[in-house]
Amino acid sequence: MTDVWSNWSGWVKAWPQNLAAPSTEEEVAEVVRTAQAPIRVAGRGHSFTPLVESSGTLMTLWGLAGVIDHDESAQTARIKAGTTIRDLGPELFERGLALVNQGDVDRQALAGAVGTGTHGTGGTLGSLSSAVTGFRLVTASGDILTCNANENPDVFDAGRVSFGSLGVMTELTMKCRPIYALEEDGGRMPIEEVLRRVEEFRDANRHFEFFWFPFAKDALLKFLRETDEEPKRRRRLPDGELARSDKVVMWACDISRFLPFLRGPLQRFLTSASGSRYAASAGSDGAEFQKKKVRWSHEAFPSDRNVRFNEMEYAVPAKRGPDCIREVGEHMRKCGANFLFPLEFRYVAGDDAWLSPFYKRDSVTISVHQYHKQPYDELFAGIETIFRKYEGRPHWAKIHTLVAKDFEALYPRWDDFRSLRRRLDPTGKFLNTYLKRILGEA
Ligand SMILES: Cc1cc2nc3c(=O)[nH]c(=O)nc-3n(C[C@H](O)[C@H](O)[C@H](O)COP(=O)(O)OP(=O)(O)OC[C@H]3O[C@@H](n4cnc5c(N)ncnc54)[C@H](O)[C@@H]3O)c2cc1C
Repeated sequence: MTDVWSNWSGWVKAWPQNLAAPSTEEEVAEVVRTAQAPIRVAGRGHSFTPLVESSGTLMTLWGLAGVIDHDESAQTARIKAGTTIRDLGPELFERGLALVNQGDVDRQALAGAVGTGTHGTGGTLGSLSSAVTGFRLVTASGDILTCNANENPDVFDAGRVSFGSLGVMTELTMKCRPIYALEEDGGRMPIEEVLRRVEEFRDANRHFEFFWFPFAKDALLKFLRETDEEPKRRRRLPDGELARSDKVVMWACDISRFLPFLRGPLQRFLTSASGSRYAASAGSDGAEFQKKKVRWSHEAFPSDRNVRFNEMEYAVPAKRGPDCIREVGEHMRKCGANFLFPLEFRYVAGDDAWLSPFYKRDSVTISVHQYHKQPYDELFAGIETIFRKYEGRPHWAKIHTLVAKDFEALYPRWDDFRSLRRRLDPTGKFLNTYLKRILGEA
């Protein structure tokens, strides 16, 4: 059957010959043994790069979902690979457990998010992949490997961040923690003061991030801190329904698309409309912030992002984050490009998955977004040069132009990863054109 698939932003499309939707591990193995290559698994299509594209077989794992069991003493849970993070939250909650950290949205399938190094923010908190203590993998031969620190440890270290290039994950074991509530607050602050105080904010808050429209003088701070206060339940918007704030952003994007000279005033307007001013002399304990919400963690982390965009993100050494974002902002103001979205600045702790952007390095991630109706190539190209100057490693799911020889210089275990991949998949069953390019395979 020929059908069309497209990613969240609508810029990546695929016309696979076959679609497969196995709902058991045995069915996944059967598809892998018999289906036409390249075989790519689609999580929930939230990647901006063509990782999922396939002209052969596209596999979805929507039927392979749910928590299998949990271990109370170890605080771990075994989870089927196709479970979305959104569905996972309440299931874990019922068992008294929660993920240690989460990213901006929760629409992704767990295996899709883990496989690309998806992360949230927190000075001592790693990416989702760093919380994986084991997984099961269907390899190109149709064999099933159990991978953890004791069994197949090399596949465990290589596979946690491997974007479906080693095989199909069918289940993951995640390190969790007892349920917890988070209070959110934030405010506006001049960007130069934020950059001076980022480490103070990082150390005083479990989660700290900021957004900055480069044409605005203020940045928008967001803090999440653990609390014993009673959380309020959150009402999520139905799929596709736009919040009022989304409508304002979309309206601003559409105006600035046709009237680019308004991009500066609109960015300043969106900044001032987004929150009250944070007194320059305020302390880092957040006391001066107006507390907004207290929620259970799985309801506190995700935002509803309904205005579509394309995104590039690099992880740079944590110390260099402030200088890097300052330079990126300056470039964006001067380069003449038409853009409206803010930059996002987050902290991620180092880990040890071979291809993790945070491999052995505490990092700051800086994200740049472009409205989905506008081209991004020129804007991203100029910024990528800056990211690379700061020894940046790109997010695997977000737009970049690096190829194998570039990754070789960024990842000490790059060659080990390639050898292991060839051993597991000698004929390249899981490689599409894009993966061949970034992995340096003919
Ligand atoms: C609105 C939005 C917000 C985002 N916010 C964040 C954020 O806060 N932090 C962050 O780090 N990233 C973020 N991302 C990026 C996103 O987390 C990644 O793109 C993630 O990989 C998407 O998961 P997915 O389930 O949609 O996977 P897909 O995009 O569908 O797939 C991602 C990769 O995983 C592979 N894969 C999927 N399932 C399996 C499996 N069972 N076995 C093996 N391989 C598999 C796919 O083949 C592909 O290579 C965001 C993206 C969007 C669109």
